Amino acid sequence: MRLLIVEDDAALARGILKVFRNEGLAVDHVSRGQDALEIVRLEPYSAVILDLGLPDMDGLAVLKQMRAAHVNVPILILTARDATSDRVQGLDQGADDYLSKPFAIQELEARVRALIRRGQGNPEPVMTLGTLKLDRATGATYVAGELLDLTRRERAVLETLMVKVGSVVPKTRLTADVFGYDDPVGPNALEVYIARLRRKLEPSGLEIVTVRGLGYLLRTK
Ligand code: CA
Repeated sequence: MRLLIVEDDAALARGILKVFRNEGLAVDHVSRGQDALEIVRLEPYSAVILDLGLPDMDGLAVLKQMRAAHVNVPILILTARDATSDRVQGLDQGADDYLSKPFAIQELEARVRALIRRGQGNPEPVMTLGTLKLDRATGATYVAGELLDLTRRERAVLETLMVKVGSVVPKTRLTADVFGYDDPVGPNALEVYIARLRRKLEPSGLEIVTVRGLGYLLRTK
């Protein structure tokens, strides 16, 4: 899952970034509307957090241009307290949700997670595949009821494979879902996570198949 934060308040952006990185999302941050309009066309984002008060342009204009360009990613706007007209205009112009500043970071987390799930057509937080169960709200993963010890990136890879179960997920897509622009990534980083996941999934009756030249596929053995 990959998230874009468009926010010019550096301290707030850092806080949001940290929280979602800890959850295993790949997170990018820009502080200008123009940069947001460019980057959103380059990466397969699962959600965008868009502040409406940006230094170079009005966030509502950014929103409007994204939707006009058929960027269909779920967008949550951050508005000033009591700015009812901003919220109404934002929703009317294609925002999926809003949060007024100041907000509790836990609420932002929960709302963004819900947006991502809905955007993938699967609002239910718990995904099950055979004996494997992944709770997307808490991140807890179980095989036959036993808690599976996964790092955040292993979980992010598994989550993407589960969302697309039965179809081949391209390596580029998995990499985009796990690593942000600022993450230092070695050439074989993804393979390392896949190898670890295979080992941990051994008792599950599931396997991650390498489809040469295309990507990876999660399926029951
Ligand atoms: Ca701002």
